[in-house]
Amino acid sequence: MEILIIEDEAEIAQLIQLYLEKEGFTCRICRDGLTALQVFQEQQPDLIVLDLMLPRLDGLEVCARIRQKPGNKDPYILMLTAKGEEIDRIIGLSTGADDYLVKPFSPRELVARVRALLRRTLRQGGQTRAYQTPHFSADVDQRVAHRQLDDHSSETLDLTTLEFDLLTTFMSHPGRVWNRTQLIEKLWGSDFFGDERVVDTHVARLRKKIEPDPANPTFLKTVIGVGYKFEDVTS
Ligand code: CA
Repeated sequence: MEILIIEDEAEIAQLIQLYLEKEGFTCRICRDGLTALQVFQEQQPDLIVLDLMLPRLDGLEVCARIRQKPGNKDPYILMLTAKGEEIDRIIGLSTGADDYLVKPFSPRELVARVRALLRRTLRQGGQTRAYQTPHFSADVDQRVAHRQLDDHSSETLDLTTLEFDLLTTFMSHPGRVWNRTQLIEKLWGSDFFGDERVVDTHVARLRKKIEPDPANPTFLKTVIGVGYKFEDVTS
């Protein structure tokens, strides 16, 4: 697994690298946003540790540009922020970060967060093969998805191709807020021409198949004014 550390404070960057390499990850450090974007295109990391305040291009802009052109791996992004710094914007407004840590943080906490993010997918040869969340699993090769039931049995979900793609898109980044444009890009590609509300129709159909009560979704939630997010946590 390859990790790109984008952090201008050398001591913090090296500390992060030290701890992640002890865990067996391959790390590369960038000290400014523009260089980081170039390195990102070459390296195609699995995960990015991204500081918010950076020279040349700040972390939010770096995050937005990576989400526009995510490459094959569509990396996880763990954002670092100084205390109280615009946390609402980072987690709320579909900036594309998957998780965040407030400085100062302990390196062990960072390693735990990185591990938790990478556990969400099974990757081989750079390709994602399966997704797993507490209640759902999806095998990308077989194109089959299961839901775990309360009695620990599981049921196969009867999904259309589009519904499967929608579910795995959500499962690839639990907690991430997606707007309709981002979901259309994922499902239909950038040459989509039509009404963005088509997304709502497919979300409604998917809810009928995965939600115990589709009118009050517990997994696939509406984020008012933005779009949707998928959340699956063990109670
Ligand atoms: Ca900084």
